This record gives sequence, structure tokens and C-alpha cells, in this order.
Amino acid sequence: MFRTITAVAAFALLAGVALAQDDVPEVETHDLGGGFYALSGQGGNVGVSVGADGVFVIDDQYAQMSEGLLAAIGELSDGPIRYVLNTHWHGDHIGGNENFAATGAVLVSHDNVRARMATGLESPMRGEAIPPSPQAALPVLTFSDTATFHFNGHEARVIHAPHAHTDGDSIIWFADTNVLHMGDIFFNGFYPFIDVASGGSLDGTIAGLEVGLAIADDETKIIPGHGALATKAEMQAAHDVLVSVRTIIAPLVAEGMSEEDVVAADPLSEFNGDWGQWFIDGDTMTIIAYRSLSAE
Ligand SMILES: [Zn+2]
Repeated sequence: MFRTITAVAAFALLAGVALAQDDVPEVETHDLGGGFYALSGQGGNVGVSVGADGVFVIDDQYAQMSEGLLAAIGELSDGPIRYVLNTHWHGDHIGGNENFAATGAVLVSHDNVRARMATGLESPMRGEAIPPSPQAALPVLTFSDTATFHFNGHEARVIHAPHAHTDGDSIIWFADTNVLHMGDIFFNGFYPFIDVASGGSLDGTIAGLEVGLAIADDETKIIPGHGALATKAEMQAAHDVLVSVRTIIAPLVAEGMSEEDVVAADPLSEFNGDWGQWFIDGDTMTIIAYRSLSAE
């Protein structure tokens, strides 16, 4: 009944597949000002704050990226990595946890990130069963709603967005540097993966984007979970297309159409050229929306 979305399982970029050392990409560093940086490589976009107190890191990609990420962070600061915050439990955001914890960093996340990592998942929407994470990879400091880091002269507000991309998503807001890290609630320029099997939902993803949109202004530097650094206008567009997806598919679910019939009707065809060019194509977005809306 809950068949695997096989079309996307082949994408090593997000599927947690370990790649040969030769395939590990270079880490690129983007200076956002005020001691804040975004690092990209392979996996979710990483946020880094450096300053007198040391280093605060948001997400750590895959384990094989740790060497490159730690080297890139070392170029920015001699200070210790004090905290690593996981925006959610997917392997392309938490894969470096053990390596970062081994440097002395404290791993932090929403309660549900630790809980899901500790148990794993038998039947994920994509790919094979996810085994439990080793103890050393688990966040040691967890929160249920919000947390605030008083660090490097900043107040970093961490806000849980319920049932969005998963059931453990965090949005991180650095008000004074006007930097916002959205985690995988926001894929810039692509249909997002919404992990219904991990407690995510279409409605919650839209609501999470609205939390970000309420915070951001036209100058905000937005780090999406995947895709290029973004403006508020780009995040608004990602929100608006999901509202359209819901408007189109919700009535079909309410009519009692089967998933197969909804997919066959190609209901998102007008958006697929612009939004369906990465690993969530129009059919996969339709399936995700159908399953999320029919689970309500
Ligand atoms: Zn994710």
C-alpha cells in the first residue's frame, strides 16, 4: 500500500549512498557577512557562525564530507566547534554527526530528530530501510518547541515547524545578521521532498514556509536545505507553488480518486516544467501530495 517511490531512490545525492572517495565534491564557502557562512558540498546546505565564542554549525551533510567541511571551517576560525544543530534527521544533514561530535561539539536537535535517529525507519518513502544511528551520532541536547542560542554576540532563534518536511524540522533565525536557515522545508527552485513516512505533511511544509516568510524581509539571506542561496521572493514562489499543488490535488482526494488515477490525470502539468526538474518530478510531487492529503 505504501509503495516505495523507486524513481527517486537512484539519486545518490540525497539517498545516503556512500560514494567513492574520488566522488567527494569540493566544499564551497559563501560569505554572508557578520561572521556567517553557508557551505555547500554534497547534501544539505550547511550554515556556520564564527566568532569569539567559537563555531556554531547547522547540519553536517554526509560522513564522507566531514573532512572537507572541517577543513573549510578551519579556514574561517581557529576556535572550537561548540554546537552542531541538525535541522532534521535525514542522512544528508546528520551524516557527519559522529565526526563533529568527536571534535568536542555538542549535538543539538528537536526531540523527534533524536527519537527517529535512535530507532531508524523500516519503510521510508525513498530507498531502503534506515538503520538506527550509533549512540555517538545522537543529539545530546534536544528541545520540543523553540531554543535560543546566545553565541558570538548573536541571538539565534531556533523554531520547530511541526509536521513539515518531517516531524522534527527546525528553522534557525539570526536576527542581527538577517540570516535564515530553513532546512529542507525549503528547496529553492524545485518541488520539495516531503517525508510523509517521517511525519511530514504538505500543509505543515506550507505552514513552515509561512513562518519563514513572516520573519524574512527583502534583504534576508535565506539558506534553503537544497538549492542556491535564496531571497524572500524565491521562498514566496516555493510557497505559492505548494499552495497551488494543494488547491489542485485536495479536491481529487476528496472525490475519492485513487492515487493511480490522480497521477494519470497529470494534474500538475502546468508547473512541472519550472519545478519538476530535480529528483521530485511532477508524478512524485503528485504522489507526495496525494498521500499527505489523504492521511489527514
Ligand atoms: Zn531532508
